[in-house]
Amino acid sequence: MQKVKLPISVDSVRAANNRLEIEASLDKSLLSRLRESTNSIHSDIDTYFAFDVDQQKLRIFKGKASVAVELTCQRCNEPMTYQCEAEFTYCPVQNKEQENNLPDVYEPIYYDENGEVNLHQIVEDELLLTLPQIAKHAIEECKYGNYESSFGEIEEEQERPNPFDALAQLKLK
Ligand SMILES: [Zn+2]
Repeated sequence: MQKVKLPISVDSVRAANNRLEIEASLDKSLLSRLRESTNSIHSDIDTYFAFDVDQQKLRIFKGKASVAVELTCQRCNEPMTYQCEAEFTYCPVQNKEQENNLPDVYEPIYYDENGEVNLHQIVEDELLLTLPQIAKHAIEECKYGNYESSFGEIEEEQERPNPFDALAQLKLK
C-alpha cells in the first residue's frame, strides 16, 4: 500500500482544532539540504504529525521523522549508515509576544499569513539537527576502531621510553 504524501503545509489552527493526525511519507528528492549534508538518503522519509490543543488552550503539534542516510566515517573514511530519528514538539505563534509567553517545553514556530506552517521545512530542519557533528562508526564496526582504542596504551608507553623496545619494534617492521 502506498503511503500518503506529506502535505507541504497545513493550517495549524484548524489542524489543532480537528486534532489532525498525519502519517505520511516525504519524498527524499525534496530534501536538498539533507542531501547536501550526507552522501545519500536511503529512502523516502517516514513522518508523523499529531496536532492538538493542550490544557492551556495552546495549539501545538508533535511529530516524528526518521530515515537512514549514508555518511562518511571520519576515522576510517569508509561509508556508514546513520539512522536519523527526530522527535519534536512545536507551538505555532504569530508574533514575538506569543513567542515570549510560550512554556519552555514548546519550540515556537511562526505561521504565515494564512495560518500555515511548512511541514516539509520542519522535517528537514529536524533531520539535519540529528546528524552527528563528526560521523564515526561504532568503535567495534570501524576499520580503525582497534587502532584508536589502543592509542591510550601507546601514550602510556611513551611516558617511560625504553630505547631497546623502540629498536626492537623498528626491526619487526
Ligand atoms: Zn569507521
